[in-house]
Amino acid sequence: MTAQGISTRRRRAVVVGAGPVGCLAALMLAKRGWQVSLYEARPDPRLFSAKAASQQRSINLAISHRGISAIQAIDGSMAQRFMQTAIPMKGRMIHQLDGKWNSQLYDRDGQCINSIDRALLSEYFVNEVTASENIRVFFQHKVLAVDFDRRNITIEDMNNALTTTPNFDFCVGADGSYSVVRRQLMRVVRMDYQQEYIKHEYIELRMPASQDDEGCMKFALDPNHLHIWPRHSYMLIALPNKDCTFTCTLFAPSEELDRLNAPDIFLNWFRLNFPDALQEIGEKNLINDFTHNPRSSLICTKLNPYHYKDRAILLGDAAHSMVPFYGQGLNCGLEDVRILNILFNQESAMSTASEHTTDQEDEQMKRVLARYSQERYKDLLAINELAMDNYVEMRHLVTTPIYLARKALDNLLYKISSPQYRSLSSLIPLLSDELYAENEPRGWLPLYTLVTFRPDVSYDTVRRTVARQSAISTGVGFVGAAMLLGLAGVWMSYATKSRYR
Ligand code: FAD
Repeated sequence: MTAQGISTRRRRAVVVGAGPVGCLAALMLAKRGWQVSLYEARPDPRLFSAKAASQQRSINLAISHRGISAIQAIDGSMAQRFMQTAIPMKGRMIHQLDGKWNSQLYDRDGQCINSIDRALLSEYFVNEVTASENIRVFFQHKVLAVDFDRRNITIEDMNNALTTTPNFDFCVGADGSYSVVRRQLMRVVRMDYQQEYIKHEYIELRMPASQDDEGCMKFALDPNHLHIWPRHSYMLIALPNKDCTFTCTLFAPSEELDRLNAPDIFLNWFRLNFPDALQEIGEKNLINDFTHNPRSSLICTKLNPYHYKDRAILLGDAAHSMVPFYGQGLNCGLEDVRILNILFNQESAMSTASEHTTDQEDEQMKRVLARYSQERYKDLLAINELAMDNYVEMRHLVTTPIYLARKALDNLLYKISSPQYRSLSSLIPLLSDELYAENEPRGWLPLYTLVTFRPDVSYDTVRRTVARQSAISTGVGFVGAAMLLGLAGVWMSYATKSRYR
């Protein structure tokens, strides 16, 4: 700092957790000129031993436009490189018990979500952060405590030695669902916090590649779909991997899994519920995965606020763990970084001076972080709740006639509101522009499209838009049903009269 209090030193950020969200946050801060130290409890995922351990438990993820546009906002070319490792999935493939299947496309215009291996994703992000000049990455450095008022953190390194690093200006907690930074923050912030374990757990199973007539590897199922075997209180899903395998995830209530406590009981149960999947997985592989892979629980956390003064923030799962049924946990965490970056940009645009005092910079940080908590809360609450709703939709509703009828109506209205049917849609009062709030997207848009393919629409706006559309489609459904009943009544009375005539 100079004698006039003008800040000349580079500001120091510590980011805790080198998961995807921590890495993207570190890259965003580095681009803004911060000097970043990134601490990760685990070893470097690019090391062979770490890779083998993580691959054993690897699940793949569906990344959608929200996540991709967040990466793009920080670095456009990075998003392009990243997409080369992904497999596009254009819809859900619903597998019925009798072996029949049907495809439900995600989008009228063919937009896709993308399957990516979690281990590849970590490696990819770690490559990006280690290549950045402004970021120093410390693997096998576990953060044990943070003193926000003294601005220091206590770390245990790979030799179990404790060190306390002084003088951070900003601390980002991106250390996942069981965040240490969040626990520390709760000591100084009046934070509302809620956590819930749902009654389902999950087990990962691997579906190997099959072979074609020439002995070449091929996918056992269509690789451009997310496969679902909905069985009401439990379900199996499968996402494709680049090596022609599928990672399957079985979700079932804990009580059900407790009952299936021996390999032969599990095999019989699986044969009864997922006969076609068993054929592709193979009995031996199934038993092997069942006995070796862990049962994992699913947690949902909600909290508010996410920041402390001018110096700390929680992002990603550390701020909002959600059930994985909308495939939005990571997408939303990456979006956190994009939103924070926008707020930084807006604050910079408002400040006219080219040089700032340290006090001014602190004030700016305070404003940005307070706005983040205030504006992000309703979106995070909305997606947390939408993910919970989708939990029922995926394992049960997708098979019910009412759901299918509503979906058909939803798709019809979506189609009518597309530009090519503009003249037709203008005749329908419920698609009229006057019915929309200022920030709502125009036209009829299905919930899945809004959540997944429209990062320009906030999760809270999605929830409000869809609540309104849902009320309308229920009304349309009732009117349609009443008209059908009326017609049936007229026809019956006519038929009765003509019989006695
Ligand atoms: P994490 O990925 O958990 O990373 C946190 C990092 O912090 C870890 O590397 C950890 O080692 C490190 N860390 C923890 N504590 C410390 C400490 N004290 N000191 C230093 N480092 C520490 N999301 C989607 O978008 N699409 C999907 O399809 C999808 N499917 C899912 C399926 C399942 C079964 C589950 C469970 C989740 C799924 N998710 C999905 C959610 C997604 O996995 C998470 O939202 C995402 O990984 C969160 O990223 P993150 O960087 O915030 O946290």
